[in-house]
Amino acid sequence: MSSFWSKTAKGVTPYVPGEQPQDKQYIKLNTNENPYPPSPKVLEAIQDAASLLRLYPDPEALELRKAIAKHFGLSHQEVFVGNGSDEVLAFAFMAFFMPDRPVVYPDITYTFYEVYASLFGVKATTIPVREDFTIDIRPYCTDRAGVIMANPNAPTGLLLGLKEVETIVRSNPNNVVIIDEAYVDFGGQSAVTLVRDCPNLLVVQTFSKSRALAGMRVGFAIGSTELIEGLNRIKDSINSYPLDRLALACAKAAIEDDQYFKDITQRIIKTREGTKGALRAMGFNVLDSKANFVFVSHSDIHAAQLFKELRERGILTRHFPRPRIDNFLRVTIGTEEQMSQFIEALREVIADRQ
Ligand SMILES: *Cc1c(COP(=O)(O)O)cnc(C)c1O
Repeated sequence: MSSFWSKTAKGVTPYVPGEQPQDKQYIKLNTNENPYPPSPKVLEAIQDAASLLRLYPDPEALELRKAIAKHFGLSHQEVFVGNGSDEVLAFAFMAFFMPDRPVVYPDITYTFYEVYASLFGVKATTIPVREDFTIDIRPYCTDRAGVIMANPNAPTGLLLGLKEVETIVRSNPNNVVIIDEAYVDFGGQSAVTLVRDCPNLLVVQTFSKSRALAGMRVGFAIGSTELIEGLNRIKDSINSYPLDRLALACAKAAIEDDQYFKDITQRIIKTREGTKGALRAMGFNVLDSKANFVFVSHSDIHAAQLFKELRERGILTRHFPRPRIDNFLRVTIGTEEQMSQFIEALREVIADRQ
């Protein structure tokens, strides 16, 4: 604790990202990155954009916003882009909650929400998910607080149907409801179709997972022009250019290559379903994830132990030492080959104990 730190810097408990070790090559199944490279069109776009790097990028990110709008059949005034969806979410907390509007979210969810709530002094209340980690939507339908929810949820991968999302949104006409759809492309139905009808709905998505651009840091939000304007007011008060030229060009190329995107997401979904089957056959409890990861536990070996043994075998997974999920492991879906190696390593770990 330094005496130079502000009260805010002293008070925060920062988010802890999954490890990105530089010491050796691991099979990385710990941070939900895409195992496939981005679209080849992205590489071409970088070449072109690089020649203009002496110039500042477009502060309005107009071309990218238009490309995203076109993809969803909307106008660019309904699209906001940021430096990763984490930044978009931070701006959303500032634009819609800070400091005096409370927010609710599930007790088991993306831990960045509690970091933002604490950093921005937003009063946050968590609502426990059920014993089986599913979400009971009723406590979210009070119109007494903003709502932020990941759908599919993280780290469980469980999905709420569009009807249920719509019920939450429509029951909160006086509060902003943020649906974080970081994983929606792996089997969910997006709530983007509701934004024209629901001015209180903000849908947040990212290029990091389904479009294989985690290294570029591009996220976006879709919502009514009034919500997008609110986000722009915050953005233009912090950083005029959160997206650099390379990021803008990459993301545009990625969203325009829909066929490639569909191909890689379909492959990941297929591998996920195969992995679920293999894990269940080995006695694992596997939640029915609709994301690019699975959330699993085993009755005989604690998740912390599994995490350690897999790491020793060169395979990284994610273990959250938190209440309720301490005995679960989150495993990102890699390539078929990587998942075979993962299953093989698990077999070894289990056999070694007997
Ligand atoms: C990965 C993730 C994000 C952040 O994505 P970036 O765009 O890479 O910042 C946001 N929300 C959830 C639930 C995530 O899992």
